[in-house]
Amino acid sequence: MMPLRRFRIHQAREIKEAAEMLAQFGDKGRLYAGGTELLLAMKHDLLRYEHLVDVKTIPGLDKIELKNSTLHIGSTATHRSIENSPLIREHFPVIAEMERHVANVRVRATGTLGGNLCFAEPHSDPATLLLALRAKARVQGSKGERTLEMDELVAGAYETSLAADEILTAVAIPLSAKPRRAAYLKFQIHERPTLGLALVLELDDGQNIKAARAVVGSVSPKPCRSDKAEALLAGPRDKVEKQLPHAAKALAEAADPVDDLEGSAEYKRHLIGVFLRRAFDRALQRPTAHG
Ligand SMILES: Cc1cc2nc3c(=O)[nH]c(=O)nc-3n(C[C@H](O)[C@H](O)[C@H](O)COP(=O)(O)OP(=O)(O)OC[C@H]3O[C@@H](n4cnc5c(N)ncnc54)[C@H](O)[C@@H]3O)c2cc1C
Repeated sequence: MMPLRRFRIHQAREIKEAAEMLAQFGDKGRLYAGGTELLLAMKHDLLRYEHLVDVKTIPGLDKIELKNSTLHIGSTATHRSIENSPLIREHFPVIAEMERHVANVRVRATGTLGGNLCFAEPHSDPATLLLALRAKARVQGSKGERTLEMDELVAGAYETSLAADEILTAVAIPLSAKPRRAAYLKFQIHERPTLGLALVLELDDGQNIKAARAVVGSVSPKPCRSDKAEALLAGPRDKVEKQLPHAAKALAEAADPVDDLEGSAEYKRHLIGVFLRRAFDRALQRPTAHG
């Protein structure tokens, strides 16, 4: 590993100040949260920055709160604080469970949700589940605020649609008006997941699935849904059960898995079938919640 090049850390006290610093430093500056991705990439000399703008020093940016029927998770909330949040455990147990299996305890204690989403590493657990839960990204830059859908925020592998001076401030997840059951499962043999699969089912009387949202992640540059798969996952429960292989095929076609060190595209298409069935069974065993 190369010795780390010299850089300066600037501790922002407000989002506006951080955005102004980013605008001022241009290509020489980058936002810095837990540093678990950024500092590693800089140590390997894959990224070079002279100025790092620390957002962990901004008061309240790590807040987790329920407001206007929406759960807000501040971008500097760590994986560990999300996993242990009583609010999240009560309303979105599937998020707490997903977070419990991200990386290792040291990365979870330091790494933030914002850093995970904004590094846009294709093997992200939160990006996959949050897309299934219809989460939105709140973003602020020197020109003002905007809200992005989760699949707009992550543009591709290691690529977001954020402007250079924009900061992800929070992720907003709407509470559901109808009873839902959700599951997130992953398959992992190396350091990061080979596949993540999120399934959210909206039920009326327990036998009829009114709507479904299925997302597969880690198999291609960004998490992916399929309208065709979701249509096949709605309807009477026994009918949907028979249609699972067709839904898995549609999801695999949409995701278009890539061959890489995690396995061949064909192997990943097979995993999608196995994990969609498991996620379906798991979701239906769970008590209803918002997610
Ligand atoms: C050993 C290891 C195993 C891992 N395993 C998994 C796994 O199983 N599943 C999984 O999902 N992830 C995994 N990860 C990824 C982990 O979740 C991330 O490293 C962590 O969440 C990044 O957060 P951070 O605060 O450290 O980001 P940083 O390293 O500080 O930042 C990462 C990037 O995001 C940008 N950024 C940070 N915050 C913001 C913001 N608020 N707005 C805009 N841009 C921002 C930074 O400029 C930088 O480009 C693993 C990582 C490691 C090192």
